Amino acid sequence: MQKFKAINRAQVLGKTEEHLYYLNERVAIHQEMKPAFDAIVTAAKTDGIDLKIASGFRSFDRQLMLWNNKFSGKTAIKDINGDIVVVDNLSSLQIIESILLYSALPGASRHHWGCDIDVYAPNLLAQNYQLQLEPWEYSESGPLAELSSWLLQHAHRFGFYFPYATFQGGIAQEPWHLSYLPLAQQFQQTFSAEQLAQTLQSSNILGKKVIIDNLDLIAKRYINNVCAAPTNVILT
Ligand SMILES: [Zn+2]
Repeated sequence: MQKFKAINRAQVLGKTEEHLYYLNERVAIHQEMKPAFDAIVTAAKTDGIDLKIASGFRSFDRQLMLWNNKFSGKTAIKDINGDIVVVDNLSSLQIIESILLYSALPGASRHHWGCDIDVYAPNLLAQNYQLQLEPWEYSESGPLAELSSWLLQHAHRFGFYFPYATFQGGIAQEPWHLSYLPLAQQFQQTFSAEQLAQTLQSSNILGKKVIIDNLDLIAKRYINNVCAAPTNVILT
């Protein structure tokens, strides 16, 4: 198995950029994923697919802003059917669980790691098409069907898999979210709910007390509840 530099707490929590490589001004990935990412991009290109990242690394602060915007009602919360959730009669915990369907807690997003990316293929989309990152776009009848089927066939050869391949009662299905297993499994092992609680305690996250009081449930249902990697994923 490949040897990687040790992963530290700040990297797990999205509090540092020291592990990143910027592909352009907007998109950064884990430095040590760069060779595997270049290889999968090249292979996809050979098959006529222009593999691009819609979202790579995201910091704690950015995730915190997304979270607080949803909790405060600035951004709409959507349910599994894409309908807006009416929060008026919901408890704080119910609001928190509604947000967690699509948005991770700051400090617990796999996008902090840099080895998890949301992908698409602009060359399969009509000009001016606005990517929604909704499952239908990646389904058999969607514009990105060819990308989905290519990834299902080939991603494992480069070390990638889909941690949100199916809905398991926690986070919604995300057919665009790829994870680089050799690094992701180490981040996953380094994650600690206690460290997350400490970090959230000293942040200005909305819903703080209810989140921290229910962190065990949240970790079990939303953070650790990911699909197992297929056994054919190449780790070297
Ligand atoms: Zn994602």
